[in-house]
Amino acid sequence: MHIVIIGNGVAGATVAQKLTQIGVGVTLFAEEPYGFYSRIMLPHSLYDKQALAHLISNNDPPYLVKKPVTAIFCEEKQVETGDGERYSYDKLIIATGSRSRTLDIFSNTDGVCTLRTFYDAQLLGDTLRSPVVVLGGGLLGLETALSLNRKGFAVTVCEAADRIMVRQLDSRAAMMLKTRLERKGLTIREGVRTIGRRLDSWEKLVALEVEGSSEIPCKTLILSLGVSPEITLAKEAGLRVQRGILVDEYLRTSDEHIYAIGDCAEYEGQIPGIVPVALAMAEAVVANLTGGQKSYQEPVLFTRFKDEELQVVSVGSVTGNPLSKENGERYEAYFLKDGTLDGAILYGSGEHLKFVREHYQKPVSEEELSALLDF
Ligand SMILES: Cc1cc2nc3c(=O)[nH]c(=O)nc-3n(C[C@H](O)[C@H](O)[C@H](O)COP(=O)(O)OP(=O)(O)OC[C@H]3O[C@@H](n4cnc5c(N)ncnc54)[C@H](O)[C@@H]3O)c2cc1C
Repeated sequence: MHIVIIGNGVAGATVAQKLTQIGVGVTLFAEEPYGFYSRIMLPHSLYDKQALAHLISNNDPPYLVKKPVTAIFCEEKQVETGDGERYSYDKLIIATGSRSRTLDIFSNTDGVCTLRTFYDAQLLGDTLRSPVVVLGGGLLGLETALSLNRKGFAVTVCEAADRIMVRQLDSRAAMMLKTRLERKGLTIREGVRTIGRRLDSWEKLVALEVEGSSEIPCKTLILSLGVSPEITLAKEAGLRVQRGILVDEYLRTSDEHIYAIGDCAEYEGQIPGIVPVALAMAEAVVANLTGGQKSYQEPVLFTRFKDEELQVVSVGSVTGNPLSKENGERYEAYFLKDGTLDGAILYGSGEHLKFVREHYQKPVSEEELSALLDF
């Protein structure tokens, strides 16, 4: 059996490595001209050529082919690469990830960029100019802003919602984080809607126009507005897609010989777009391709704001009224749904992370949670 994998991100690279270890023949196609690197470390390595270079693996595995796949031919069970060559597969895994969202008003504007790839990080490092604006106050936007702020850039974060990290934090934790980041020198503006840009006579970006307020000076704009799953190949091949490539519990697409995993795959209407999901899908697909029948189990949905001085972890769904406590720079909130632990925020301490991981989506009593809040 020969397996072709499209995409050398964490999902594709993990599957390729695991299959090879058990002797299955694999070809892994990558459109990026580098070896594997950890995308989540990009914000922390910005404007630091050495740190960036260290992210890239120098040991390319023999099954890695650095060519983009441009078409899938389901009937023939073949893929075609950019140079017109065709490769046959017995099973195909699509692991094409996602692309950063952009805004039409900023297309073809000098000084505007996104941060998804190693190339983006290199380009950004080479062209950065203060003042910097990061549009989007999610996890990635804030980590990027903090990293640049530490390197001496004046950075403003603009968030359209009424608080930062709206998917991961409740209003109290978001306020605590905002206060802390502002103390470090970041400017954070919430409830801001960007409506345009102002260029100088050399067509260079100088300011953002925002609704109902004065302009925000800006020479580098980093768009951190979320992602769109990369489904072009799947769609053109006639596979069933919605926002992502539709998969069943075994991660099969609408073609029984083709699987999809990671950020590009949509299972039960969900595309969490985080590493733990990519890894759990990789594990399930390996089992299914090697004689097993392993349904995909959603892992603990877990994100961490990565800052050496502060631990902020968000798990699961953080909506509704939590059982919570704040004590100085520490805050914990536990979200119950029908008697089970549906989500948690651990701000300023990881002491109860093990408990949360072990009890996530399992029954817990209010007494157990109250005991955790005794700090
Ligand atoms: C800067 C940043 C920080 C992040 N921080 C976190 C974090 O802290 N925690 C967390 O859990 N998640 C984080 N994420 C999200 C996480 O990186 C993704 O969930 C994860 O990378 C998804 O893995 P993937 O393999 O599905 O897709 P990707 O990592 O996007 O990899 C897909 C690969 O497929 C390639 N590809 C696409 N089309 C083709 C083609 N036609 N031919 C060949 N190759 C192709 C792409 O070039 C890419 O290399 C972050 C993302 C970014 C960008």
